Amino acid sequence: MREKPIILWFRQDLRLADNPALTAAAATGAPILPVFVLDDETPGKWALGGASRWWLHHSLDALADALSEHGCTLHLRRGDAAVQIRTLAAETGAQAVYWNRCYEPYATRRDGTLKKALREDDIAAESFNAALLFEPWEVKTKTGTPPKVYSPYWRAMRLLGDPPPELAVPEAITGFEGPLAGDRLDDWQLTPRNPDWASGFKAIWHPGETGARDRLDWFLETALDDYRKGRDFPSKPLVSRLSPHLHFGEIGPRQVWHRTIAHCLMTGRDPFSGSPEHFLKELVWREFSHAQLFHNPDLPEACLRPEYENFPWDTAEKPLHAWQRGQTGIPIVDAGMRELWQTGYMHNRVRMICASFLVKHLMVDWRAGEAWFWDTLVDADLANNAASWQWIAGSGADAAPYFRIFNPVLQGEKFDSGGGYTRHWVPELADVPDRYLHKPWEAPGNPAPDYPSPIIDLGLGRARALAAFKDLKNGSWPDIAACA
Ligand code: FAD
Repeated sequence: MREKPIILWFRQDLRLADNPALTAAAATGAPILPVFVLDDETPGKWALGGASRWWLHHSLDALADALSEHGCTLHLRRGDAAVQIRTLAAETGAQAVYWNRCYEPYATRRDGTLKKALREDDIAAESFNAALLFEPWEVKTKTGTPPKVYSPYWRAMRLLGDPPPELAVPEAITGFEGPLAGDRLDDWQLTPRNPDWASGFKAIWHPGETGARDRLDWFLETALDDYRKGRDFPSKPLVSRLSPHLHFGEIGPRQVWHRTIAHCLMTGRDPFSGSPEHFLKELVWREFSHAQLFHNPDLPEACLRPEYENFPWDTAEKPLHAWQRGQTGIPIVDAGMRELWQTGYMHNRVRMICASFLVKHLMVDWRAGEAWFWDTLVDADLANNAASWQWIAGSGADAAPYFRIFNPVLQGEKFDSGGGYTRHWVPELADVPDRYLHKPWEAPGNPAPDYPSPIIDLGLGRARALAAFKDLKNGSWPDIAACA
């Protein structure tokens, strides 16, 4: 009689190396049935955005190729994931379902219920950690509570010692053989056509495990040494751009952590000082965001500081649309928003500037910016996106103070002084002298006739936001129309 298979349910862990669910399944010697379920229902409003769908298509393609080299066929299903997995288990007589954990609230709810249901059906259900250095519930303060601020989080995490080592790809994987109906990837139509707005993505990104590994190798060899200072300059190739690979689990944070340390030791450097430590700390911001989401399931929808719910947001459509299209008349903001649209990515420094401009100068609700990023980023990640927007808005746990309002002119002059980044994305500014690049409205002779005037006077916008935020504590909100 044929041995019952183990279903290996791929989710945000689209890789073979350092994949604990795969390692555990392969160790049993049972035939493995790898499956991915496209579920547009369970996540509700957080179903995959357009840029993420593009990435997923290519990542699944790469995963299917990698699995086939090990004699396995990636099986595709679409619909409510819990229903699909139970159906597949019944169809194949599976003995077990293994998966790596996700931390989105809808996923933890669904997975808990599914685990119980499978076990009631006499099917083993096991989950593993492939996405984080440590589980969110493992990192605690001395009093046993989850750290609410980043620095204590980092310290508490370091007290746990090194994260578990990276797992190799299992040497022997037995693929499940049997007739089984499934979907074709192309039929899911995850990539855009008519128009193909993602045409610019292909030249920049290489989704999949190999692309992720190559990117980390490139970063360690060429950029790590200058990361600490260089990471703030969007025209310089001094950040890793690993975020979409990490989000889709084409590389795990433990791999990044251990390879960074090994690289430092091999080249005679201390991994816990200067640029290498700074990079490891950024990786831990990702952990901190996931912990925040895990402990505050409402993080993507509700202000962690409830008083912010009464903030007098401007709900007019015009400012939001100008921001989304990169037509605000503020050069560094427009450069960032256009980079985002054309590549699915925006440099972190510019993300902060664009987000601050939207929330503070334009007084648009951070959730509108969060939703736009969700649709357009290839690294759209519920934890990182929500935590970062709340940080910028000031409504988060460990948030920027309300009076920190990025001045986009000064930010542009400081971090893109040569204008390489801004001119690349906003070619209408090509003839504006460096001195006026970040404030073209002051340039004599109108050197950028095709570029819009600023949507808001920056001084007035700042004063309006400060007035509104100042009243936060006593609860009296100004009339924004009167302030404008
Ligand atoms: P690197 O500088 O090379 O950092 C390495 C890795 O560390 C990143 O890949 C990422 O996984 C992690 N990391 C770095 N900075 C942060 C951070 N501030 N918070 C959490 N993790 C971090 N990041 C996302 O992955 N998805 C998002 O949806 C997202 N939305 C954001 C929204 C706003 C408004 C802001 C200000 C930031 C957002 N970030 C998001 C965080 C950060 O901008 C990106 O992770 C980073 O720019 C990715 O580029 P990189 O891989 O080159 O980063």
